[in-house]
Amino acid sequence: MFNCNSLSLLNFTYYFKLSLGICMVIIPFIFLEYLVIRIIRYKEKHHKINKYFIKKRFKEFFYIVVIFLLAYTLNSVIQTPNNKCSLYANRKVISAYKDNLEVVNNSNLSDNSKKEYMDKVLTMAYDNYTKGKTTDITLKLKQEIKKEESVKVEKLNNTNNFLNETDNKKLNGVYVQNGVFYYKGYISGNYSTYSGTNCPSNPLKEGYNNPYGYNNYFYNRLTKFIEEANKNGYKITMSTQGCRTYQTQVNYYNTMERGRAAPPGWSLHGLGIASDLEFYQKDGSVCPSGRNDYSCPSMGWAHQNASKFGLTFPLLYASYREDWHIEPINKQKY
Ligand SMILES: [Zn+2]
Repeated sequence: MFNCNSLSLLNFTYYFKLSLGICMVIIPFIFLEYLVIRIIRYKEKHHKINKYFIKKRFKEFFYIVVIFLLAYTLNSVIQTPNNKCSLYANRKVISAYKDNLEVVNNSNLSDNSKKEYMDKVLTMAYDNYTKGKTTDITLKLKQEIKKEESVKVEKLNNTNNFLNETDNKKLNGVYVQNGVFYYKGYISGNYSTYSGTNCPSNPLKEGYNNPYGYNNYFYNRLTKFIEEANKNGYKITMSTQGCRTYQTQVNYYNTMERGRAAPPGWSLHGLGIASDLEFYQKDGSVCPSGRNDYSCPSMGWAHQNASKFGLTFPLLYASYREDWHIEPINKQKY
């Protein structure tokens, strides 16, 4: 339902209703009086009333009735219970709206929440006005906003409280304790310790929360991180290659420049705890190579905020810089 949540709309409706009231009552009243006075004066002057004179007066009277009926009809049309503007268009409700607009606008809430609070102000002010309630609107508003703001902060803290993560169930040989990712260290000749040898072939059916084969906890951190980036207007995407098989790593190693790909068996990509991100410009194009944190603001944001989400870019200062390669911040071999 349309809620008439705007000061200018409320004011407009108020003055519109006022002018309808004037058209319905004051104008007809003044003209009627004027008509009567004219008739009386005419009679005083001529001692009797002419037929044509009366006919003319009837015409004027007809116009008065038409103005009244038009205003009356318009007024009944806008006075429906669905038209909140018309219900709320009175001085008391409008001044309550004005008084509390600043309280709501100064809060840290989203625009949608602010709108909801102003809806509440209107309902409370209307109840005060029509049902004789005496709610202290500003006080109630401040209490509710404070409550919502604290819930919001708590939620954010929980979101980023990755140090609470503990799950001893191994996925691809990786488990998590107090936010630290434990993974099997590479032992030469011990094939079971090679990364990429345990990638799931159907992740969603094998206990993973994503179709790519990323470790569940790493995936959660990445998702929250990317969501927050998007909220701030930066487009970032994660690679759909969540778990790189040993064979793929062999191919990369053999075809890429030395130092570019980790030796087969070593890469954290094969354990589902590394990802390669794609960074985008405002116009939707991919940030080109040779970029830096300033020429590619989405990457700048990512490099600056990763740690808040339990993530890190470990190859920023490597001899072969990989500004897109991201991993969990706390890792340990077992
Ligand atoms: Zn990588």
